[in-house]
Amino acid sequence: MAYLTLRKLNKRYGATVAVEDIDLDVAAGEFVALLGPSGCGKTTTLRMIAGFVPPTSGEIRIGDADVTHLPAHRRNVGLVFQNYALFPHMTVRANIEFGLKAHHVDSAQTRERVRSVLALVGLSSQEDRYPRELSGGQQQRVALARVLALKPDLLLFDEPLSNLDAKLRVQMRQEIRRLQREVGVTALFVTHDQEEAMTMADRIVVLDRGRIAQIGSPAEIYDRPRTRFVANFIGISNFFEGALFPGSPFGLFRCSSGLEIAIPPEIAAAASTAATLAIRPEKIEFVSAETPGSLPGAIRQATQLGSTMEYLIDLAGGDRVIVHEQKRPRVPVRAAGEHVRIAWHPADCVFLQSEKERSDDRV
Ligand code: ADP
Repeated sequence: MAYLTLRKLNKRYGATVAVEDIDLDVAAGEFVALLGPSGCGKTTTLRMIAGFVPPTSGEIRIGDADVTHLPAHRRNVGLVFQNYALFPHMTVRANIEFGLKAHHVDSAQTRERVRSVLALVGLSSQEDRYPRELSGGQQQRVALARVLALKPDLLLFDEPLSNLDAKLRVQMRQEIRRLQREVGVTALFVTHDQEEAMTMADRIVVLDRGRIAQIGSPAEIYDRPRTRFVANFIGISNFFEGALFPGSPFGLFRCSSGLEIAIPPEIAAAASTAATLAIRPEKIEFVSAETPGSLPGAIRQATQLGSTMEYLIDLAGGDRVIVHEQKRPRVPVRAAGEHVRIAWHPADCVFLQSEKERSDDRV
């Protein structure tokens, strides 16, 4: 049973289509990330759910209620922004109490809620401090505590971590997930950071120019991207343009360069004739010349990426691929100019929907 439902949600600003036909069901207690590049419609979607922006058309339901035309203050929705918007002249306690007073929560309830949310975010000993006396991470936790004290039906996060330094950002990811799980509140989290979405979300909604490109678990989005846009936006992929070799019983893909790639028949059966094949760099292995189906090539460039080596490889037919290899004892680091053979498991290939197919399903 969905807790948050968006049906055919649209937002246009004059000729600009900010959000187009968004359909989404978020289950109670689920943590969903809205992911996409700048301008893809994430913030507009969030603002429509919060009630700050009226949709051009479509429906928004929270729990059992249709809230599409309800003003923002009558939706019990909590918002967490990147600038914490704490009152600088108020203590931590007063910052949290402020919202409760505005909602006419009585003083006994207020005391109890302040105590419990401060314990939840681990700041019980800091309640008399002012925001300037707290670190960035602590201020973000106060902002979260202030929202949680209001017991929202739904938590909306708008890029809440983008002001924090890299290390703190990683810590706060875990902290936000822990708090959201403990409270059990349903959450929608807007980010343009694929790693943030991958590490935090139960499911990711990838947006492309106002439309949903794909919805899935982080693993589905990474391992089975549906379009080139998704495969490109999340991680790195090698792409081969070409067509299925007609009449091949075991599945053969012929690239425009002439390169032939074996693919599992079940994938071949599901793919259209002209297609793009994608393979992730870490799925490609260096193999010996005896390995059937292996492809010869030469290393053009070798780059250290910390724990991984990145190799740019020119294949015999002119195609170029990226290979990522974990640096490990007894695995040689290769140098530019070295001749190699590469292979991958056919099941690790993904067929991508072409942009044409995508535009067809718009009709
Ligand atoms: P994101 O949050 O993914 O960066 P937005 O939702 O802010 O994207 O914007 C989506 C599109 O809608 C963009 O093309 C943006 O320029 C446009 N847009 C957003 N808000 C307005 C507005 N108030 N007036 C006109 N165009 C807007």
